[in-house]
Amino acid sequence: MSEQAGGVERPFRPGSRRVLVLGGTAEARELADTLTTRGHHVTTSLAGRTRDPRLPAGEVRSGGFGGAEGLAAALRHIDLLVDATHPFAARMTDHAARAAAATGVPWVVLRRPGWSAQPGDRWARVPTTGAAAGALGDAGSVFLAIGRQGVHHFAALEQVRLVRAIEPPDVLPPHAHLVLARGPFALDDERALLAEHRIDTIVAKDSGGATEAKLVAAREAGVVVVLVDRPAPPGGAEIVSSADAAAGWVESTPN
Ligand code: NAP
Repeated sequence: MSEQAGGVERPFRPGSRRVLVLGGTAEARELADTLTTRGHHVTTSLAGRTRDPRLPAGEVRSGGFGGAEGLAAALRHIDLLVDATHPFAARMTDHAARAAAATGVPWVVLRRPGWSAQPGDRWARVPTTGAAAGALGDAGSVFLAIGRQGVHHFAALEQVRLVRAIEPPDVLPPHAHLVLARGPFALDDERALLAEHRIDTIVAKDSGGATEAKLVAAREAGVVVVLVDRPAPPGGAEIVSSADAAAGWVESTPN
């Protein structure tokens, strides 16, 4: 037996699930690739803010759902929901929790582990991006490595000399040089960037994952890192920390 979807003939596999993956991360792509290979019907949802995003296997939809209610409506033909958004995409995660509760669709949060300080690290943890901006008093030359969102908190700060993001932020601090680039970045390139801009302090989110090279380069050079803590996931959320574990959850969860 087979079924027709998007003009492509796909084999039907008993036990095949219809999975909605809320994406925007490397782990979401890895999960979609794994589940598609195993014969599940995967739709990955992207926010639609990045031009030319890296696409996973399976179907892809783009753009907001229109709040938790819109997501609940989209779950009508879905068996299982995996929230594999970035650890800082707190609103989408909140909507996933509410839509899953409203519809009874089983859901899981795929969240890669955060980073842990190593000997030699000079880290200051802060609870929010706004708090990071407030903590920069005499921080020397600052590199903002928080992406596009949240740069407005630093808009008036003269210490910020370097901003890196995939897409341009709406505002830039007065003395900031903008680098448009998409990670992960090689350690040698991070070393060179810190040296070129004579960086004393990096502001980063505790995203975890493969963008760690900047932290290694900072450790080597004695550069301070102001690390923004992740928002807490919604109470009661089941959390897995890898694409493999999420694939296991999909295949072991009754629906
Ligand atoms: P957010 O603040 O939690 O979400 C804002 C709104 O964007 C949501 O209410 C939703 O709109 C829409 N949205 C977010 N993720 C979506 C998705 N995967 N599919 C469809 N709609 C989505 O999210 P954010 O921090 O702006 O992040 C946006 C996207 O970028 C996410 O997919 C995330 O994984 C990725 N990302 C974020 C960061 C970061 O630092 N925040 C870093 C790297 C990648 P509706 O209410 O209309 O449904």
